[in-house]
Amino acid sequence: MEENRVALVTGGSRGIGAAIAIALARDGFDIWLNFRQGRDAAATVAAAVMAAGRQCRLLPFDVADPQATQEALEPLLEKQTPFALVNNAGFARDALMIWMRQEEWKDVLAVHLDGFFQVTKLVLNQMVKKKEGRIINIVSTSGQTGMPGQVNYSAAKAGLIGATRSLAAEVARRNILVNAVSPGFIETEMIKDLPRERILPMIPMRRIGQPEEVAGVVSFLCSGQATYLTGQVIAVNGGSYMG
Ligand code: NDP
Repeated sequence: MEENRVALVTGGSRGIGAAIAIALARDGFDIWLNFRQGRDAAATVAAAVMAAGRQCRLLPFDVADPQATQEALEPLLEKQTPFALVNNAGFARDALMIWMRQEEWKDVLAVHLDGFFQVTKLVLNQMVKKKEGRIINIVSTSGQTGMPGQVNYSAAKAGLIGATRSLAAEVARRNILVNAVSPGFIETEMIKDLPRERILPMIPMRRIGQPEEVAGVVSFLCSGQATYLTGQVIAVNGGSYMG
């Protein structure tokens, strides 16, 4: 019997990752849901996945930790290869460069870049054997244009955009499509402390985006509608940056 297609979503316990996991479950994917510590939040997402009639496997590990990542994924990858991988796990540690501490620089690069490398390498090794797959990296407007206080985060996301394009060129002939989705300001924990009166004037649509509006684009990229699309950065930002 054919198994259901699987989507692995990192950082899927809340925010954008949770919306992506639920959207992909509604599209028919079983979900491997990674997160770091928010088990209760992850269980809520798992319940929504199951309500959509799909299975959800919870995978708590830190994507920045190579050993933990390997221990969590290798046994699963021996049995099944995800069709889609969404590298979404991440956080910001904002500070002006003059005050930025070494750990703030290192931790942000680690979660976005090392995390991408570690998870993707393991999954890609299996995808190339199957000669199919979709990899979607969640980047940010900050990786496309300057944002004060985010030298670390901008460097990480711009790096991930570069990695997206190079990997897309490497694996296109294996029918593995690699793209980046670049959200602007999206209503999640990550931006809860930012003053709205400062943000809204920067957005032509004059509103903050919802996680589901990012998830819809990821859903499209994982679908049969997006078969000739690779190496691109698709912005979901209400017009706040038009690259
Ligand atoms: P949230 O803070 O709401 O959620 C982050 C998720 O990532 C949580 O599930 C968290 O799990 C998980 N996570 C964090 N660090 C790790 C780690 N080391 N290993 C595994 N999981 C981890 O963030 P958003 O939903 O807002 O952000 C999701 C992605 O979108 C990020 O990559 C972010 O940079 C990007 N983005 C967000 C924007 C926004 O405005 N919100 C704008 C542009 C980009 P746990 O709680 O268990 O730690």
